[in-house]
Amino acid sequence: MTDEYESLAKAARQLIDTDRLLGSDYIPARPDSLPQPLSPEASAPATGETADQKAEALKAIDEGEVKVCTRCPLHQTRMNTVFGEGSADADLVFVGEGPGADEDRTGRPFVGRAGELLAKMIAAMGLSRKDVFICNILKCRPPGNRSPAPEEITACWNYLIRQLDIIRPKVIVALGNPATQNLLNTRTGITKIRGNFQPLPPLGEHLAGPDVMPTFHPALLPRQYSPDNRRKVWDDLQKVMAKLGLKPPKK
Ligand code: URA
Repeated sequence: MTDEYESLAKAARQLIDTDRLLGSDYIPARPDSLPQPLSPEASAPATGETADQKAEALKAIDEGEVKVCTRCPLHQTRMNTVFGEGSADADLVFVGEGPGADEDRTGRPFVGRAGELLAKMIAAMGLSRKDVFICNILKCRPPGNRSPAPEEITACWNYLIRQLDIIRPKVIVALGNPATQNLLNTRTGITKIRGNFQPLPPLGEHLAGPDVMPTFHPALLPRQYSPDNRRKVWDDLQKVMAKLGLKPPKK
């Protein structure tokens, strides 16, 4: 009975994970949770123009606010906050969902299995992790890697918008449903919306409409990381490369 219960629970968890990452629309997308644009007064000024100034501005938010954040209950269970990392002056920012166990342990984004896949995607674009900025909607790990709760997204939202406002990328790749639906303020699932650039709604004082490319999250379970889905992700990233004028690396 216990075994049966456990395998049922596992199957249910897998289904929910699949829906979350692949984006079935029939799973309600947190009706009250979609954060609204910040008012200009509430938005952090983009203090830096040079890469060094931008890096300083990001560091100030990380060390002065995120590392000591108690805005939602996730601070009680985290080991480390995961602010994000990479170039403060990047043209390209990847936004994921939230830290998992490996990220919580190390304080770095995308270092587990999903991170390996993301690194491969970035390398295929002829870039390295240092050339881009990688961050998440949430800066603390939801226990058990569950989906971010609406109130957690709301509590953390300002940090993400201020990061983007400082970096001012040309393109944001939204990885999976939570990043896509919250950044674009839409309830359309990733399966339908992926592969086409969408303008970022006005969110920060200095953040005027970089293009958002929604694509599948690399944490897709191995069986969903099918050749077909891999090809779709690569198609999406090639569009990003074209927009940024990037050429694939020579083999
Ligand atoms: N690791 C992250 O940092 N973010 C995700 O969304 C998944 C894994």
